Amino acid sequence: MVVVMSPDATAEDVARVVARVEGVGGEANVSKGVVRTIIGLVGDIDSFHHLNLRTLPGVADVHRISDPYKLVSRQHHPDRSTVWVGRPGRQVPIGPETVTFIAGPCAVESAQQTLEAAQMARSAGATILRGGAFKPRTSPYAFQGLGVQGLEILADVREATGLPIVTEVVDARDVAVVAEYADMLQIGTRNMANFGLLQAAGEAGKPVLLKRGMTATIEEWLMAAEYIVQRGNLDVVLCERGIRTFEPSTRNTLDISAVPVVQATSHLPVIVDPSHAAGRKDLVVPLSRAAIAVGADGVIVDVHPQPEVALCDGPQALEGADLRELAQAVRRFPALVGRTAAQAPVV
Ligand code: PEP
Ligand code: MN
Repeated sequence: MVVVMSPDATAEDVARVVARVEGVGGEANVSKGVVRTIIGLVGDIDSFHHLNLRTLPGVADVHRISDPYKLVSRQHHPDRSTVWVGRPGRQVPIGPETVTFIAGPCAVESAQQTLEAAQMARSAGATILRGGAFKPRTSPYAFQGLGVQGLEILADVREATGLPIVTEVVDARDVAVVAEYADMLQIGTRNMANFGLLQAAGEAGKPVLLKRGMTATIEEWLMAAEYIVQRGNLDVVLCERGIRTFEPSTRNTLDISAVPVVQATSHLPVIVDPSHAAGRKDLVVPLSRAAIAVGADGVIVDVHPQPEVALCDGPQALEGADLRELAQAVRRFPALVGRTAAQAPVV
């Protein structure tokens, strides 16, 4: 931490800061410039926070140098992590060596629709199935998902296709039941800062896919991941799904630079959701290519056997020729960045 004194700070002001810092066992290194004095602090950052140094006379600013998140930071864990999803013997990796393709319907609507979507996903090369049983809808009048019945459908489709499933949990009270069925819990953009839910997910014993809040900074997103990891669950995968900006031509703005920014600062894998970022099926293939090229550890995409009658997010769901084009990109692009496409579990 660095304390910047104002140009008119007195020698007493500087001495007061030094005394406070030393009073909690810290070290204060004073550097006098021509105009300003700065004080470098060494020691326990949390105890420095409690000193409220900004409130002292002569203090202009206080800057934090180290990351506020510890467990997800690369500072103490330089190697990037791989998270394994699925039952032992059928696990799919998400990490730095591979590109993992996750696909499925936005929402589980029926057994037939989910099975068809899973078969489409699998034939396109997807190795994990997505599908929402509990849907976090902006409108309380919109389809809210089939709940536990949807989880049962997902479990049956996993049996039929061998694909592990990732599905969203929207309420801390549902974590146990979702974890009973799912191979990976998804926490969506609207719940990224629901700290009780993050903590409950951290105790559920399943990997977690943590989407970025649509108005969250990267630091806030990593702090949300820290809540999960702090509960003993290191298996967290981050998902960039677009942020809200002033641009109305896409549903959100895909922050593609978030991928290398996160990878430089955190060891957690990071994947991209071009479907929820763009909200338009014509942009899903180009944005998926961009995601793989920028170094994402995977992509998660909406597919639907009949997008025109989808109960949720039909305009962004792929099928037919669009899905074949995506399949080709996901097969070919990983090699261009020195990776392989993650393989489907053998059934
Ligand atoms: C979803 O993936 O179904 C979803 C609701 O995504 P997001 O939380 O990114 O809007
Ligand atoms: Mn959706």
